[in-house]
Order: sequence, then structure tokens, then C-alpha cells
Amino acid sequence: EVGEEEGNTVERIFVAIRVRPLNEREKARQDVSEWECVSHNSVRLKNNGHAEPRSPTDTYTFDRVFGEKCPTKQVYEQGIKDVSLSVVRGINSSIFAYGQTSSGKTYTMTGITELAVSDIYQYIEKHKEREFVVKFSAMEIYNEAVRDLLNSNATSLRLLDDPEKGTVVEKLTEETLTERSRLQQLISKCAAERTTEETAMNETSSRSHQILRLTVESNPGDFVGTARSGALFASVNFVDLAGSERASQALSAGTRLREGSHINRSLLTLGTVIRKLSKERNGHIPYRDSKLTRILHNSLGGNARTAIICTISPARSQVEQSKNTLFFAACAK
Ligand code: ADP
Ligand code: MG
Repeated sequence: EVGEEEGNTVERIFVAIRVRPLNEREKARQDVSEWECVSHNSVRLKNNGHAEPRSPTDTYTFDRVFGEKCPTKQVYEQGIKDVSLSVVRGINSSIFAYGQTSSGKTYTMTGITELAVSDIYQYIEKHKEREFVVKFSAMEIYNEAVRDLLNSNATSLRLLDDPEKGTVVEKLTEETLTERSRLQQLISKCAAERTTEETAMNETSSRSHQILRLTVESNPGDFVGTARSGALFASVNFVDLAGSERASQALSAGTRLREGSHINRSLLTLGTVIRKLSKERNGHIPYRDSKLTRILHNSLGGNARTAIICTISPARSQVEQSKNTLFFAACAK
């Protein structure tokens, strides 16, 4: 995914598809699995009951495709590991889970975050010659309001433009971690908070974006991997996006975003930003059009690394939604 352009290294966006297994509810109503992975990077509709064999245009190709039986560890190792570990080298990154509600976004992001944290700490422990400071923050964007997941009283945080740091979330709690166990505690706390919300308000979790952010600052010591002598500073963002079911139709129809529209502004803007980044890196990128893209500005584009895992249900009843998700994924390529 790394290309050379006029001597500069341009990072392309890593796009993968993950198909989850049929769940009990789907099995109970005799839904069937409609998707098959035909290689390490392509997926197509099965020939279930169709008279004609599928044509090659029914095959969708991405950087990677992970099938129903594929464990999260494999998803992580084959594409996400490098992206998330770049944080220790001073490179910002964002890892997204995109897909309709109940397609497996949270399942995937939770597993990936855990594996990434483990590798980041392992790296830190191995490099005793460097001093590291690790900080954690977590937020949720719902209806364009930013909420601090580490402080339940902070429900509408403002975004400020800092001349040096870019967009910062005012008063967002940032906890400096002294031990790894504390980080696991904080991540579980955020997950628990979201689960409670899910049962209480049902709608909220499918319409909100969650960002877990790990910031790593280090003194390079005699680290030889970089010529820079100053401190290295970067963050990695694990983003569990709102359900794509409403946005994807608008996106594929090319609908203009209206003020007060029930369509998720942050999700639509992210789609536009990613599509533009993948096509014309030097053009105008509308980061400022939504809270999500403003917050992630420094971790999208530029020399930042981006990975998107698009999750789909295998079910026949969900084929249209799954196609919308594949359409989004194709636009990001
Ligand atoms: P979303 O966050 O997209 O709404 P979830 O991650 O909550 O979806 O997944 C919905 C259900 O499917 C959960 O019960 C989850 O455990 C299960 N699930 C999702 N992906 C997988 C997978 N790859 N393998 C096994 N179970 C999965
Ligand atoms: Mg979820």
C-alpha cells in the first residue's frame, strides 16, 4: 500500500472486508450465507440457486478479504498491526470499522485494539533505551456532539483550533498511563458504558462514533530507525463508526447533506474525505465539515496511515446493505 510519488512516500488507504458468520437469529429464520471469499483479497456472491454462473463483475477486490471463520488475530496481523505500531515511530494513524449495525464492527475493533495495545507495550518493553509516555483518551460523537467517555459529566465538548496541534478537543480527559493494566481497565470501562447505553437507548450506539486514542511520546535515545533527534509524538485512533445503514444510501445516491438531516453528518463527511484522499491527495479535503473528520484531521491524509475494515453480514436478507458497504470500500481504494 505504499507508493512512490515524486520522491515522497504516499501512504494509500488499506481497505479490508470482513464477513462475519451467520448468527443464531439469522439461522433460526433460515437465512443463508450469500458471500464467499474466492482469494485472499476478493469476495463474491455465491451462486445459490442462480441458473447462470456469476460473472467476473460480481467479484469485488480489496487489499484483503477475511472470511467467516477467520479469527480477529489474522485480521490484525494482515494489515492492522503495521498501521497501529507506526505510533511508536512518531506516525499518526486511524483504524476504522465501517458497516451496518450488527455486522461486527464492535467485535472487530475490540479485538484489534486489544492486540494492538499488547504489541505497542511489547515494543516499549523491548526498547529500554528510550523513554516512553503513553496517554489514553476516549470520546463519542453523537449528533455532532462530542462526549468524553472518561468523564460522564462532559457531554458537549468544544473543538478548538490550536496553531501547533491542529484541532483539539477542549477539556477532554487524557490519562497518562503508568501501567498497562490501567489501560485495559479504561478500555473495558468505555466498552461497558457503551453497552449500557445500547440497552437503554437502543438507537444511540448504532448512531454514534467511538474513538479510542492512544498517544505515544518518546525520546528516541540511540534509536537508529530515524535520523531525527527530537522527541517522537504520535497517536493511534481506534474508531468504531456508527451503523452505515442510513448513510450508505445517501452516499451511493450522491445526495447532498442537508442541515438538520437525520443522516449522520460525520459518517458522510468521512466518506467524502476518504474518497478524496484516495483519489487526489492534493485537492481540497473537507475535513472541517464534520466533528469526526476535524478530530481525526492529523491522523488522516498527509503522512498518516489509515486502515478501514468494512464488516458485512453474510446473510441473504442483508445483501443490499452489504453491497452498499462494498461500494463504500471500493470508493476508499
Ligand atoms: P456492530 O458493532 O457492527 O453493530 P457487533 O460487533 O456488535 O456489530 O456484532 C454483532 C454480533 O455478532 C455480536 O454478538 C458479535 O459477537 C457477533 N460477531 C460479529 N462479528 C463476528 C465474527 N467475526 N465472529 C463471530 N461473531 C461475530
Ligand atoms: Mg457496535
